[in-house]
Amino acid sequence: MPNAIFRVQSHKFTQDNIQTTLICSNCDDVFSKEFLLDLEGQTIEFKCPVCGTAGEADLPYKTEEEREEFDDDLDEVEEENVEEIKSIIK
Ligand SMILES: [Zn+2]
Repeated sequence: MPNAIFRVQSHKFTQDNIQTTLICSNCDDVFSKEFLLDLEGQTIEFKCPVCGTAGEADLPYKTEEEREEFDDDLDEVEEENVEEIKSIIK
């Protein structure tokens, strides 16, 4: 059993990982940690970087809104690339 619970205070999904701000229930300190996108929605065990106590955190799921934002970003990037290719051809 973990000795501490790390509560997710805030989180942000990037293209590469999940950036979280967590609070340790043992030392009450706030720290930030990055997780792989594959770990979305899972319970992860690790040691608190502040007090070293083993604990676990429930990682958030990406919301529908956040998924849509990524789709928009990808479209924009693709369009930019097309423009770039066109200008190279000219
Ligand atoms: Zn701690």
